[in-house]
Amino acid sequence: MKKTILAMSAVAALLMSGCASDEAKATAPEAAPAHAEKAAEETKYPVGHEKHWDYVEHGPAHWEEFSKTCGKGHHQSPVNIIPGKSVEMNHTYDLSMHEDIHTSATVIDNGHSIKVTPKTGGSITLHGETFNLLQFHFHGKSEHTVNGKRYDMVVHMVHQNPETKQLAVVAVFFKEGKEDPILNDVIKNVGGSIEVDPQDLLPKDTAHYYHYIGSLTTPPCSENVQWYLLKEPVEASKEQIEAFRKYYVDNERPVQELNDRKVESN
Ligand SMILES: [Zn+2]
Repeated sequence: MKKTILAMSAVAALLMSGCASDEAKATAPEAAPAHAEKAAEETKYPVGHEKHWDYVEHGPAHWEEFSKTCGKGHHQSPVNIIPGKSVEMNHTYDLSMHEDIHTSATVIDNGHSIKVTPKTGGSITLHGETFNLLQFHFHGKSEHTVNGKRYDMVVHMVHQNPETKQLAVVAVFFKEGKEDPILNDVIKNVGGSIEVDPQDLLPKDTAHYYHYIGSLTTPPCSENVQWYLLKEPVEASKEQIEAFRKYYVDNERPVQELNDRKVESN
């Protein structure tokens, strides 16, 4: 009986979790560790029965089976950024966090990424609208590319306007270099909790970025997500990148067509 309950809750958590998709369901139950999810799934759903999305067997080419928007949407993410083709912005948003926050945060392996959910995340203001930080998670390579190049890793800081529910994701690219202070804590505490100041994830320069309107990069691939991709990358050591990739190395969706959209930059 206990096993069945675990299986059901793990699968339910799986269905409701994932990349940028769980911010809209911030109250969703936390997922069990990935190995437990896999075991539970095998027990509960034999081959050919229920399935869930992933990056391998039920990878991006099959995500339309989980949400039509993933296959039919015209404003999907990620995209390839071509700086020479981006449109100059005539405004700059303040993308730094408004408060210097030291908060406890849970760290989970949700089956698609390592996700950190702070108790109090801080906020950003865009066009006078406040977006609260709900969670941040990592990809083993960047999802957006710049001139076709993938960065070594990326963190997606997922914010939401509490009234309109619109999402704004701030992406910070990682390149190999010196050690990142937050990443060590995250990797060593999967399944536990950490003390964190989310602002420490940001590079020095938060005033220069690429901006466009896209989607969640995981099912349900919902659109009307504001993306802010900071131009200045931060650094992580080779060891840290390797340690993260022991969890996830290919959890990035292929780039999508830009269609009628323009990428802005400043
Ligand atoms: Zn993401």
